[in-house]
Amino acid sequence: MPDAAVAKLQALVRIPTVSHRDPARTDTAVFDTFLEELARQFPLVHERLELTRIHTHALLFRWRGRAATKPVVLMAHLDVVPVEETAPWQRPAFGAEIVDGEIWGRGTLDDKGCLVGICEAVERLLADGFEPAQDVWLSFGCDEEVSGAAAGLAVEELTRRGVRPWFVLDEGGAVASGAFPGIGVPVAVIGVTEKGVTSLELSVEGRGGHASTPQKLGPTARIARAITRLERAPFHPSLPPPTQTLLHRLAPHAPAPLRPLMGNASRLGPALARALILAGPESAAMTRTTLAATTLSGSPALNVIASRATAGLNIRIMVGDTVAGVVEHVRKAVRDDQVQITVVEANEPSPLSPYEDDEAFDLLSSTITADFPDAVVSPYVMMAATDARFFTAISERVYRFAPFRMSKEQREAIHSYDERIGVADFLDGVDWYRHLIERLPDD
Ligand SMILES: [Zn+2]
Repeated sequence: MPDAAVAKLQALVRIPTVSHRDPARTDTAVFDTFLEELARQFPLVHERLELTRIHTHALLFRWRGRAATKPVVLMAHLDVVPVEETAPWQRPAFGAEIVDGEIWGRGTLDDKGCLVGICEAVERLLADGFEPAQDVWLSFGCDEEVSGAAAGLAVEELTRRGVRPWFVLDEGGAVASGAFPGIGVPVAVIGVTEKGVTSLELSVEGRGGHASTPQKLGPTARIARAITRLERAPFHPSLPPPTQTLLHRLAPHAPAPLRPLMGNASRLGPALARALILAGPESAAMTRTTLAATTLSGSPALNVIASRATAGLNIRIMVGDTVAGVVEHVRKAVRDDQVQITVVEANEPSPLSPYEDDEAFDLLSSTITADFPDAVVSPYVMMAATDARFFTAISERVYRFAPFRMSKEQREAIHSYDERIGVADFLDGVDWYRHLIERLPDD
């Protein structure tokens, strides 16, 4: 008989909670329906926990524990990214069909798996009459995918109530298989910092005019030159401490020729960073700030010279670099006074959460080892942005980990097509959240 928790995840995946950057375009009725369904699926959570509605559709639950000296926050978000019409999904994106032991659909991994996993763990514990050792807060965002306001407002609410979380756990890492070539064991990675998402716009103004009488180095040519100059001036590589720890912990599982190199990651940082850059874009992103020219604009007509050309740059800032440093790097690389640089959004990388000899990190790590004994546990630097970054304002320990086994294919399906989670993997995740809550310490 299929587990009831699986049916709950299916029901919630079928409600297409797509968020938009423009709040006016968000279908609020869909989010209303989602919250009603959530309340129906998890009656004890809604009855026994204290609920504060945040922003439009975000939820903040407080589950009182025997003590509140080390309160914890478990996070997830209920919104999803849209499904592109041309994306070649093999199964309906909001169908939540189970095929060959996997639940298919947008949001199964990002992030309704975590949402339902947390709710189901709490629901079962409530049914058993369990009382947590510490206050457990559940913070569920509604606009994570569009960098909306909900997470910041949840942090404001916690601040107002004087809550300083002992640790915060959000999505991010996973029990990942196939993450590193040649390494056969799964790696359970816990994000201890995330890159800062920053966007710049390059623009050049010109005279415009008829395309039959072009001048040299007009706005479009200057923008093109700026982009190629940026391509030739990558940010300097380095191996931040969590990446050194990751390589060190993976060393015993690596192919023999690589072991000494990885085992000495802290000493051989620069050489290893160069090797990771050569190994491909994913591993290169682990070693430095990255920059991608994304949007481009020029003239709207084929026979008109642009009087203004622009390029959008999306930049992911590595821990150790800063927004100011990045702008300076871009200015120097472009070396053209006529190219204006405007900061569109600025986010510094998140501070590093502790992971050496730290009771909270050890609790996460030992709970992972207990439930996923084959996995190597390690801290790592997250490449993508999460709502967790807002919580660094009120907690020193912000960790990013989803307790699900994920193959390389599954990880690639996040924000793409064919997103799906293994039924057994989802249920293991429910158990993991339960074990984590059961193991919270008394003081
Ligand atoms: Zn997410």
